[in-house]
Amino acid sequence: VIENGQPEHSTITTCAYCGVGCSFRADMKGEQLVRMVPDKNGGANHGHSCVKGRFAFGYATHKDRITTPMVREKISDPWREVSWEEAIQFAADKLKGIQAKYGKDAIGGITSSRCTNEETYLVQKLIRAGFGNNNVDTCARVCHSPTGYGLKTTFGESSGTQTFDSVMQADVIMVIGANPTDGHPVFGSLMKRRLRQGAKLIVVDPRSIDLVRNSPHVKADYHLKLRPGTNVAVVTALAHVIVTEGLVDEQFALERCDVESFTKWKAFVAKPENSPEAVAELTGVPAETLRAAARLYATGGNGAIYYGLGVTEHSQGSTTVIGIANLAMATGNIGREGVGVNPLRGQNNVQGSCDMGSFPHEFVGYRHVSDTATRAQFEAAWGVSLASEPGLRIPNMFAAAIDGSFKGLYVQGEDIAQSDPDIQHVHHALRELDCLIVQDIFLNETAKFAHVFLPGSSFLEKNGTFTNAERRISPVRKVMTPLAGKEDWEVTQDLANALGLPMNYNHPSEIMDEIARLTPQFAGVSYEKLDRMGSIQWPCNDEAPEGTPIMHADQFVRGKGRFMLTEYVATEERTSSKYPLILTTGRILSQYNVGAQTRRTANVAWHEEDRLEIHPHDAEVLGIADGDWVGVKSRTGETVLRALITDRMQPGVVYTTFHFPHSGANVITTDNSDWATNCPEYKVTAVHVAKVAQP
Ligand code: SF4
Repeated sequence: VIENGQPEHSTITTCAYCGVGCSFRADMKGEQLVRMVPDKNGGANHGHSCVKGRFAFGYATHKDRITTPMVREKISDPWREVSWEEAIQFAADKLKGIQAKYGKDAIGGITSSRCTNEETYLVQKLIRAGFGNNNVDTCARVCHSPTGYGLKTTFGESSGTQTFDSVMQADVIMVIGANPTDGHPVFGSLMKRRLRQGAKLIVVDPRSIDLVRNSPHVKADYHLKLRPGTNVAVVTALAHVIVTEGLVDEQFALERCDVESFTKWKAFVAKPENSPEAVAELTGVPAETLRAAARLYATGGNGAIYYGLGVTEHSQGSTTVIGIANLAMATGNIGREGVGVNPLRGQNNVQGSCDMGSFPHEFVGYRHVSDTATRAQFEAAWGVSLASEPGLRIPNMFAAAIDGSFKGLYVQGEDIAQSDPDIQHVHHALRELDCLIVQDIFLNETAKFAHVFLPGSSFLEKNGTFTNAERRISPVRKVMTPLAGKEDWEVTQDLANALGLPMNYNHPSEIMDEIARLTPQFAGVSYEKLDRMGSIQWPCNDEAPEGTPIMHADQFVRGKGRFMLTEYVATEERTSSKYPLILTTGRILSQYNVGAQTRRTANVAWHEEDRLEIHPHDAEVLGIADGDWVGVKSRTGETVLRALITDRMQPGVVYTTFHFPHSGANVITTDNSDWATNCPEYKVTAVHVAKVAQP
C-alpha cells in the first residue's frame, strides 16, 4: 500500500512499461514512492501518462519480491538462501564446469527489453568476451526482430523513422497490426488528437480495435479487416494499386532509391495475381476497400504508417515489414515530418535491447559479427578474441538444450517459460540445462527450472537508460535503495569478475561512455548530455550532436533505399475440420504482457482475467453464451478461459490477451516462426473451441 503525503524529494525518471517511454517525476517520502507525476518536459509524453505508468508501480515493493540470492544443485531440490558472494561463485563455478566439459559454445545468455541499455550491454559483453561465442539473444526475438531485419534491409537502419510528435503533421495515418489506444496509450491519445483535427485513418487489423469503432470523434475511414496471416497479400495489393494506377512518386523513388530494385518491384507488384481482386477472397478484404485505402495513402498528403506485433509475429513478419517500407518509398512518404514507418515497440526498451548488441549476429549498433574491422575494434577494447560466426537464437538454444549440446543459460529479466511459444517445448529444453541462472525481481515461471536465482532491481532502484520506439534515450534514475542490495548491472559485473572477465565500472555512466566510444550511432551520447537535454534521439554523433528526430531526411542510412519483393506464402498453420477457428492475441490497456508487474498492482481490478473474444455467429453455432467457460485446443496444447461474445471479431477468428499465466495463451501457440528471424507466429493458431464445465 502506498501512502499519500507530501514528497520529501523528487526525481525525473522513465516509465518501465511500454515503448512510448513516458517521463515521470517520482515523488518520494524517504524510501517510499508516494506518486508518479507525468513530466511536462518529457520528450515523448509532454505531461501525459496512462494508468500503467501513473498508478501501477506498487509491484516494485510487493511482498513477492525476492531479495536474497538462492541456489540449488537440482531443480527438484528446495532453494537454499545464500550470500551474494556464494551465489555468484556458485553460478561461476557451474558455468566454468560446463565450459570445461562441453566447450564454450554450450553456454549463452538472454537479455530483456525490461532492463536498461547498460545492463543489456553488459550481459552480451559477458557472453561474447567471457565465453568467446555469440550465443546471446534478446526477448525482442519474439516481438520486433522482423522490424530489425526488414528496416535494416530496406532503409539501412533497424529503427523507426519518426518522433511521436511527427504524427501531428500526418494527413493519412495507417495503423497495421497495432492497437495504440491499449498498447501505447499516450501515443494513441496523440494520434486521436490528430485524427480529431481531420487526418484520415486506415486500420489494417483482423479485429475492430477501438480506433475503428469505439473512440469518440474518431472513426476509421477504411478498416481492412483481414484474415490473420494474410498481411503480405494485403500490403502487396496496396502496392499493386499504387503502381498500376500511376500513384507512385517516381521522382522520389528514382532519386532516393536503388533504381534496379525499384524497377523489379514495380513489375512484381503489377502482376495480376497481386491485384485487390485476386486477393480479396484470400484476405477477406473487399477489392474496392483495398483500392480505396491505397489511393488514400498515396494521394492524401503526408502518409504515416504505424505498426505493431500484428505485423511482426507471423511466419512472414519480415516480409510484411519490407512491404510497408516499400509502400513508404514508393509514395515518397519518408524523410520528413508527418510521414515515415514507425514500429510501435511493446516493451520499454525493445529498441534499446536490440541496439545494444544482444542479437547473436550483431554487435552494438547493428554491426555484423563477421565484419573484421568491427570485431577488431571490440577485441581491442575488451582485450579478448571474439567469434566471427553468429551464435544461437533463442529457439536454437532450446533445440540445442534438448539435443544435449547446450547446457548453461543466463537469463536476465525475462520469463521465457511463460512468454515464449509452445511452452511444453520450452519447459522440456529448460529441464535439460545443467545450469540455469535467472535474474529477476520475482520468482517467475522460468525460475522453476533454475539452479541459481539472482534477485533483480526494479527501475526505481537503479541508474541507466531506456530507449523508446522513437529512438529516444531517456534516463532511468535511482530513487530508492535496491531491495536486494545491488543494481542489476553490478550483479552482471560480479558474475563476469568471478568468471575471470574483469569489469570495473563504478557507475552505469561509464558503461554508456564505453558504448559511445564503440558505436557510431551513440558516439555523442553521455549522461552529462542526457542530464542537460532530458533525452536524446539517436543517431547522436558529430554529424548530429543534438540527436536525430527524423531519419533518412536527405538520404537513406544505407545510401539508396532498397525495394524488395514480397511474395505471399501461406502460413503452415492451417484450419481444418478438427481446428476450424484461428486464434490471434493482443494486449489490454490496464495490463502489461505476462502481467508479472501489473497483476501485482491495483490495476488488476480493471482486468481480472483473460477472456476469449468470439463472434456472435460462431458463439451461436457452438452453443456458447457470454461468460461461459470454453476449452481452447490447438495442435500443441489446450487451455480454458471464459468467453466474451463480441462483433469486434470476425467470424472464424477468436482472440485473447495473455496477461494471466493460468489462461496460458502460449500453451496453445505453435512453433511456427518468421522465415528470416525466427520471431514466433503468435498471431495465427488454428484452434477448436467448445463449451466446458467451470474448471
Ligand atoms: Fe508508461 Fe507507456 Fe503508459 Fe507512457 S504510455 S505511462 S510509457 S505504459
